Amino acid sequence: MDQYPLPVPPITASGAVHADSDAIATVAARAEAEAISLVWFLYADHGGIIRGKAAAAPLLRARMVTGIGHTVAMMAMSMLDHLQPVAGMGPVGEVRIMPDPATFVPLPYAPGAAAMLADLVQPGGEPWEACARTYLKQAIADLAAEGYAVTAAFEPEFTLGRREASPDGGPDRLVPADDSLCYSATGFHLAHDYTIDLLGALQAQGLTVEHYYPELGHGQQEMSVRHAPALRAADNHVLYRETVRGVAFRRGMWASLAPKPIPGQAGNGAHLHLSLRDVGTDGQLGDQAVFHDEQDRYRLSATGYHFIGGLLAHLPGLVALTCGSVNSYRRLAPQMWSSAYSVYGMDNREAAIRICSPMRDDPAGSVNLELKPSDSSANPYLSLGACIYAGLDGIRRKLDPGDAVNVDPATLTDAQRQAAGASRLPASLDEALDALAADDLLLESLGGLRRRAYLAVKRSEAAAFAGTDPAYECFEHFTKI
Ligand code: GLU
Ligand code: MG
Repeated sequence: MDQYPLPVPPITASGAVHADSDAIATVAARAEAEAISLVWFLYADHGGIIRGKAAAAPLLRARMVTGIGHTVAMMAMSMLDHLQPVAGMGPVGEVRIMPDPATFVPLPYAPGAAAMLADLVQPGGEPWEACARTYLKQAIADLAAEGYAVTAAFEPEFTLGRREASPDGGPDRLVPADDSLCYSATGFHLAHDYTIDLLGALQAQGLTVEHYYPELGHGQQEMSVRHAPALRAADNHVLYRETVRGVAFRRGMWASLAPKPIPGQAGNGAHLHLSLRDVGTDGQLGDQAVFHDEQDRYRLSATGYHFIGGLLAHLPGLVALTCGSVNSYRRLAPQMWSSAYSVYGMDNREAAIRICSPMRDDPAGSVNLELKPSDSSANPYLSLGACIYAGLDGIRRKLDPGDAVNVDPATLTDAQRQAAGASRLPASLDEALDALAADDLLLESLGGLRRRAYLAVKRSEAAAFAGTDPAYECFEHFTKI
């Protein structure tokens, strides 16, 4: 299931999302062959939480046609389960959690269960304007209309440990599994049983694992997954998040992809790698690496620079979607290798956008852009979709990103940073939301209902954590993300 068609699932003339009967039969047969008794229909909400409902096996075929009934209000729910007053998302109104058969996968960490990634659709099957996965599909389709397709990968870090009661009676703490050094062999030893389980579980779900290493923070791990077409990349990230936690839970451990689960320890990023391929008018993917130009000093094409120009132009508002939690801004600080300034640079790990140097075995295909201000508390469909819209704006307007900054921007003087156009990224979720509320392009891409709900949910999270103890904020994030 490496390539999903563009867009999926097919939309009929009536606008209804239409589940193909062959695909349903294939999934049902596979569920039976694998002794699956429960199938989770999963989606990501505006709080960045993965939620869903499950169909028992005898009802699977029927629910793949109809979806499972769900209240519209869940997209107005915050990551603290505080329901926000959003017009159109009250107690009256219904959507269906409609699974995409192309994503069916047995879950190695939950024997007897399988999952499908789902859209939220209207009861008649028509797309619902606040569905996050549909937003990404729209972005993919709009980009395809310009002749491009995004290939992407989230590169998540996470903290492995145990959840323990706090000795001082405060909120539970995440106690890291080890205190190993960055990339150290000791780290390999200490996390080995878990990492082998995780690797097998990801591979069994069709994710191509590329690299593993113990990261800088205590208990911090990174296992990277190969890039994929945009929708698949976001789906992969949802599967990845659940696998990291599911494998830990089954071992009596706790894992968290929260941006800063432990105050004072290294943050968990989910850097977003992006590149473009060409798409024909027939919708077929070409093999042209659109970001590559061998003649350029950074081997980046004019389109690549325009894409960076778009990302930079929208970055303050964009981070409200790519770094979607209060906890995100504890991570986004200077000299944390997570980026804090709106600059791009060649292999610069303190730049918001890094041009990644190509690999010798595939110099054209491996050129990609890495967005550092991105973490796993984001809704990956909204985050990747918004990056596409920002980059597309840069391509359409041929935006010039200025010169690359190939030093750590924190080491520059204020005057030097100003000359380089290096402004500080938002330092809080509220600041990022202010920037998003002022970004007409991103707001328009989101549409009325989705943007009202997103802003309300996120403002409520910012208010709920304002002035609270960092231990409480970290607790609420590491227990959920
Ligand atoms: N942990 C860093 C972050 O929060 C990234 C470290 C690295 O992989 O360069 O983004
Ligand atoms: Mg890393």
